[in-house]
Amino acid sequence: MADSENSTDVQFGGHSLVWAGDWSPESARFAASSASRAGYNFIEILVAEPEKVDPVMTKDLLEEFNLTATGCLVFNGDTDISSTDTSKVDAGLDRGRRAIDVVAAWGGTIIDGPITASLQPFEQPASKENRQNSVNALRDMADYAADKGVSLNMEIVNRYESNLMNTAKEGMVYLEEVDRPNVFIHLDTYHMNIEEDGMVEGVLAAGDRLGYVHVGESHRGYLGTGNVDFDAFFGALKQINYTGPIAFESFSSAVVDPALSDALRIWRNLWTDSDDLATKALAYMKERY
Ligand code: MN
Repeated sequence: MADSENSTDVQFGGHSLVWAGDWSPESARFAASSASRAGYNFIEILVAEPEKVDPVMTKDLLEEFNLTATGCLVFNGDTDISSTDTSKVDAGLDRGRRAIDVVAAWGGTIIDGPITASLQPFEQPASKENRQNSVNALRDMADYAADKGVSLNMEIVNRYESNLMNTAKEGMVYLEEVDRPNVFIHLDTYHMNIEEDGMVEGVLAAGDRLGYVHVGESHRGYLGTGNVDFDAFFGALKQINYTGPIAFESFSSAVVDPALSDALRIWRNLWTDSDDLATKALAYMKERY
């Protein structure tokens, strides 16, 4: 398939935190209408607290604004599926299943995010038990998701946010252990910029198991104003004929989800105008893919 044909199929999305810090009906309407107006095909909705996302309201909104949506799942210390405390693993599994339920109920098919452990700074490397608990829990979630036609895309995040794995290569080893057909790798240029040998190798290592992409700058602000080599990254996506979703992810202290923004250390105000940010990001991505 030629690159030009490839790009017409690609779906571009924006993370909901570009527009809104929560998913109340008012915030959701603002985010969905803004994403649609900016020309995006889908919106990525934070489902870390599934009970705060109304799937019926969401489904109606998506239809109204001709969008689809993916669900970004995040675990915290109390819901860590890699924990040696089984009550935390169980709480994580419960959160995971409810997030899958919500996504399926709005008609979605994709869960993404750092779903292999809690998103937090760890003081030691993961133990064998941590890893095995994570693998077991992810298998459980994957089977539950498969019944609802949902795929799980595990985001590879940097060393300050996970101790299980930090590169695509490590992710592929973990993926083999999990051994489920509906689990894929999710790469994020922000994390790749910290951990990978450049912006190409990780993409090639994931290959046809790459299921989801976050496009984010090294400081998480405007694309093209930081250190990420996006030409190399999109070139690598072309090399593997990637046709999956591409989601712009950016955070600023101007739009805040109290739990996620703190976990990601969003202390700085990198932008204030969501519309300007989102419009420029989409143009930037489309110029390259
Ligand atoms: Mn990300």
